[in-house]
Amino acid sequence: MSADVHRIAEASLAWLAQRGIPPTPDHFRVAFTHLAGEDPTLSAAIAAMSEQGSGPDVIQSRALYERFFGGGEAGSLQEHGRRLADLVGRLQGELATAGQETRECGEALATMRAQVGKPLDVGRVGELLARISEETDRMQAIAGRLEGGLASGMAEIGELRRSLEAARAAALTDPLTGLANRKRFDLALASLAAEARAERRPLSLIMADVDHFKAFNDLHGHRMGDLALKLVAALLLDHFKGRDVVARYGGEEFAVILPDTDLAAARLVADRLREMLATRQLQTRDKTRLGRITISLGVAELATDEPLTELVERADRALYAAKRSGRNRTVALMAGAG
Ligand code: GH3
Ligand code: MG
Ligand code: MG
Repeated sequence: MSADVHRIAEASLAWLAQRGIPPTPDHFRVAFTHLAGEDPTLSAAIAAMSEQGSGPDVIQSRALYERFFGGGEAGSLQEHGRRLADLVGRLQGELATAGQETRECGEALATMRAQVGKPLDVGRVGELLARISEETDRMQAIAGRLEGGLASGMAEIGELRRSLEAARAAALTDPLTGLANRKRFDLALASLAAEARAERRPLSLIMADVDHFKAFNDLHGHRMGDLALKLVAALLLDHFKGRDVVARYGGEEFAVILPDTDLAAARLVADRLREMLATRQLQTRDKTRLGRITISLGVAELATDEPLTELVERADRALYAAKRSGRNRTVALMAGAG
């Protein structure tokens, strides 16, 4: 067993080295799990990547880590489910105990009531009163405990709800840039497009892709590449206002949904962004210069009754046209214009 572990660990290091992936704990875990054959789904995902080229690179390995070990949405939901089940179990227990004690009090009072029907002397009345007061105290104590238990249960439910809300937000946010992720983009596009259609208002979509980003990564390294993506994301957030939704659509591709904006206006705002970025020296907080980055942009406006996939495809075609015509360009495509 231990010899096996050593063998797989060594093979994992070699596997990572072959792909130029640093042997950090996260990447190592991906490699080890794959080579040990511990997770067939993970191995199948790696096999699919290998079919298209030399197999996972550092970015794909990170994506694999997030997908298979990152906890993510499923893990968080499980955790919340567990906490909720614990809470319900505890409240059930408290209610059951209180129920039992209440029944006992009830029985004691019923016995006393039966005695009241009989002739009583003063001593007996005093004794009965004392016991009634005792049972009342007991009831009050039960009610107090229940109230305390319920109040803490309510507080816990409030905390669970907030934490669930935070988990939900995290599941819709891109961890690197803090922008909306692809899932949130899909949800936002569906709801904003429905609204635009109902109110007969325009809606446009911008797709933007960093130019020659592979070369940027090759020159500066992935860490700087990540930093550049964060800077671009911050500029995008700054550039678009109001109800516009800025999302990271994929690796170095961004998407912006512009409600209440027609094609001409969207083209203008997209091109201003392009120009602003192109004329800017990117630098990190410690003033390391990263040079200039340009982006190409495709713009499309939602046409009456068209499926949203067509809108996205048109914006994508426009982006592709911008790339073909030399990059650092904005191209807007009218519906039906091919
Ligand atoms: P083009 O102008 O045609 O868009 O060229 P490109 O090099 O940008 O396009 P290509 O699709 O060939 O390569 C995209 C590169 O973006 C590959 C990958 O290394 C890099 N990339 C994608 N996501 C990330 C990321 O999260 N971090 C870093 N550092 N790089 C990324
Ligand atoms: Mg690119
Ligand atoms: Mg791209």
